[in-house]
Amino acid sequence: MKETKCEHCGFWTNGKLDNCNYCGKRLNDRHLNEIEERESIELKGLPLLKVPEEAPFYTKGFLYVLRFIQLIFLSIISMVAAMASSTVH
Ligand SMILES: [Zn+2]
Repeated sequence: MKETKCEHCGFWTNGKLDNCNYCGKRLNDRHLNEIEERESIELKGLPLLKVPEEAPFYTKGFLYVLRFIQLIFLSIISMVAAMASSTVH
C-alpha cells in the first residue's frame, strides 16, 4: 500500500484516498493546486501584452514590437524549461 504523509496533520495515510483518514482534508493539495493553476494559465493562453484599440499608431507599433520580443522570450523560456525537465526525469 502506498502511503502518503498528510500535509495538514502529518499522519501517514492511504495514498490512494483523496482525503486524509485522520483530519479529512484533501491529500496532495499543493500538488493538485499547482496542476489546476497551470491548466488555468494554459487555458488563458500566453500572458501577452494587450494592445489597446484607442492607442495612437506609434504606441501600437511599439507595443507590437514589445509583444514580438515577449513571444520570442517566452518560447525560449519554454524551450529551456522543457530541456530542464527532460534532464531531471
Ligand atoms: Zn490529515
